[in-house]
Amino acid sequence: MMSCRAGDFYYGGRWVRADPKQRRFPCVNPATEQIFDDIGWATPKVVSDAVNAARECYDQGDWSSQTPIQVSRRIMLLRRTAELIRKEKGALASTETRDCGKPLEESEWDVDDASGVFEHFASVLERRVMTRDVDLGDDSFAGSLRAEAVGVVAVITPWNYPLLMACWKVAPALAAGCCVVLKPSEHASLTCLHLASILHRSGFPPGSFNLITGDGQSAGAALASHPHVHKTSFTGSTATGESVALAAARQCKPCSLELGGKSALIVFEDCDIDKAVEWAMFGCFWTNGQICSATSRVLVHSSIHDDFLEALQARSLEIRAGDPMSRGTRLGPLVSAAQRDRVVGMIRRAEEEGARLVCGGGRPKGVVMDGVGYYVEPTVFADVDDSSELWREEVFGPVLAVRPFDTEEEAVVAANATKYGLAAAVISSDAARCERVARRMRTGLVWVNCSQPCFPQLPWGGKVGRASGHGRDLGEAGLDAYLDLKSVVTYTSADKWDWYPQQHKSKL
Ligand code: NAD
Repeated sequence: MMSCRAGDFYYGGRWVRADPKQRRFPCVNPATEQIFDDIGWATPKVVSDAVNAARECYDQGDWSSQTPIQVSRRIMLLRRTAELIRKEKGALASTETRDCGKPLEESEWDVDDASGVFEHFASVLERRVMTRDVDLGDDSFAGSLRAEAVGVVAVITPWNYPLLMACWKVAPALAAGCCVVLKPSEHASLTCLHLASILHRSGFPPGSFNLITGDGQSAGAALASHPHVHKTSFTGSTATGESVALAAARQCKPCSLELGGKSALIVFEDCDIDKAVEWAMFGCFWTNGQICSATSRVLVHSSIHDDFLEALQARSLEIRAGDPMSRGTRLGPLVSAAQRDRVVGMIRRAEEEGARLVCGGGRPKGVVMDGVGYYVEPTVFADVDDSSELWREEVFGPVLAVRPFDTEEEAVVAANATKYGLAAAVISSDAARCERVARRMRTGLVWVNCSQPCFPQLPWGGKVGRASGHGRDLGEAGLDAYLDLKSVVTYTSADKWDWYPQQHKSKL
């Protein structure tokens, strides 16, 4: 067990042990297939206790108030958390890699980003005006608009960026004065348990941050439908997002959804092919291919299609797969045997559907893994039919599908021809063309001459009305997601309102 956690769940400001009779989740290192730890399985009673601890803190009022003293206290706590995350980077990064298999240097990057997210929301909160007067155009009245904490927020997160995805939501929710109950993915919860310890040591008051671990069907569903939760913020698959949204809708409560994607990368003929190939690889092989915004559909201008494919094949074969704990490894294992089997199943069906396997498709060769670990080679398919499963559905593994195009119009239409709307990317040396394409993408994010870099200053999320969800993490909007508005109207005139003129003078 990690030294930083003194129990299985954290709520009401203290660690709580799971009922010893309850089943536990094994933590399996996906590179070695060895169990190295385990986590508690929250029962509906534990979920309820955690939500009630959050509700008590919210109802008590101090933590959530927007007085200058409380706002300054929250800014200080967010900064202290950022600092502790930075200080404990080594432990956090190695735990993350052991738990979910991403290469160590990527985990270190995630920990830096997690710290940066707390810094970012401290700065956003510092600039934010929580109360402002509004001129109502009537001298008899004064108007005031106030931003208030939404209340108790359920945060449910996935396993591909276990610590970072949690921080994207926990930091702004705490900044706003909300009380959070976090349920990370049962496949990778350990860095979130470490985060609970950091938030505790930073001095967040009891009940402001709470964490339970457990599966989706019981713990996640019980949290999303708990009557004392005011809002759910969810990141995960589109299928689960639908059930979270239904649970919220049944109680007329809001939820924000960061879901899956099948994003396109358009490569024009005027690009530098080597640079474009590297972005295509980074756009889909980073995080072992388990990226919601992966640009996994690559549209390449037909005049450079064959050269591009040849370079992509050569570079993909060179990617260093191996022990994710070793520096220099660029491809680790997928998170679980089930995920590996799902990805391999999609590769086999793509071959059956007639796509041409350019490279990959199996287990990477090499002595390091010795046949152990849930590895899948960087895989590239060409001649992928646009009606095939591979072109339409999220793989969530290191699998690229490539198709040629002839005109800009054709590329734009093909990129937008998906139910998803998270991201898109365009590579061209013609800035005007990039701008035209960026404007026409039906997505929440567009990368120009790159794919994937993400900055907390800009909001992240899917285009409304599509299957990648709605709402925004990060940016200034990331704070708005946890604030509600209250309008206060004050009658300032000394005169009577006099809508109902008095017929008889009062005797008093
Ligand atoms: P998932 O939907 O299986 O699980 C996500 C979380 O939901 C987990 O904590 C899980 O325990 C919980 N859950 C499962 N069933 C539930 C239910 N009925 N009620 C409440 N909670 C439930 O997703 P995953 O496999 O962990 O993550 C992969 C998915 O996440 C991919 O589709 C990926 O695209 C998406 N994702 C999206 C973003 C984004 O920003 N848009 C970021 C990362 C991952």
